[in-house]
Amino acid sequence: MYAFDYHKATSLADAVAVLSKRGGRPLAGGQSLVPAMKLRLAQPGTLVDLSGIAELRGIRREGAAVVIGAMTRHAEVAASNDVKAAIPALAALAEGIGDRQVRNMGTLGGSIANNDPAACWPAAVLGLDATIVTSKGRHAADAFFKGMYGTALAADELVTAVSFPVPATAAYAKFANPASRFALVGVFVAQRADGSVRVAVTGAAPSVFRCASLEAVLARSFTADAAKTVKVDAAGLNGDLHASAEYRAHLITVMAARAVAAAG
Ligand code: FAD
Repeated sequence: MYAFDYHKATSLADAVAVLSKRGGRPLAGGQSLVPAMKLRLAQPGTLVDLSGIAELRGIRREGAAVVIGAMTRHAEVAASNDVKAAIPALAALAEGIGDRQVRNMGTLGGSIANNDPAACWPAAVLGLDATIVTSKGRHAADAFFKGMYGTALAADELVTAVSFPVPATAAYAKFANPASRFALVGVFVAQRADGSVRVAVTGAAPSVFRCASLEAVLARSFTADAAKTVKVDAAGLNGDLHASAEYRAHLITVMAARAVAAAG
């Protein structure tokens, strides 16, 4: 690991000011950034620690949405009665992330800013058509994730919260890598009150994406049997030592059917 400066931010304004002036990277739970620094894949000159900023934490209901602060840990989402009551799929997704240490340290904001191709949170954000609230404004989910590890965030822009509209029903099904629990393929399905359906897939491609063929079929019939009729094209999907592109394509259909069955 290279030498770096460390700044523990006292407020959102302080964090933004230091990042704008000195550059560097925000530090949330450190579950991705610190290993990347150890491997010298990331070499920030300054780390701006967000853990002392109270305004970035917490979960609240705002009208027809659940708003979760960027520094809220996965374990806090998993344990939240408000989340379990409004969007139980989010609590279940958070409970299924990594292991106990990762869930106690990792954050919602860190996960979506990182946009790991196999991360779970991006599927929920895209599947629920969430709004990403930042220090500079707001991003629609459809315009936020920009390819492998890429997002619409500027270098000095911080995620402050994510606003999740409450769906009629939703669920997430993940075929987990048995070693890390990251998604080999994860599918988040959400049905809205008007009957429209969104399906977001993670783990299968360089970045999370919506699956139009599943969305169209499930909008007509929101059943596991309907999901099973969809054959997903393997072109453009990831193939690696864990699974071929064809196997991942097959898993998308299987996980979508399981998610629909779980959503009820
Ligand atoms: P950090 O590592 O601190 O930061 C990640 C990146 O985001 C950095 O570039 C940082 O600068 C930036 N960043 C952080 N916060 C903000 C912010 N508010 N605004 C802008 N940029 C920001 N994830 C899953 O989804 N599913 C899994 O099953 C899973 N399994 C895991 C297993 C292991 C063993 C490990 C180590 C991690 C796993 N993860 C998994 C990832 C984990 O969920 C972390 O949440 C994720 O690594 C990033 O969150 P973090 O808070 O640790 O962010």
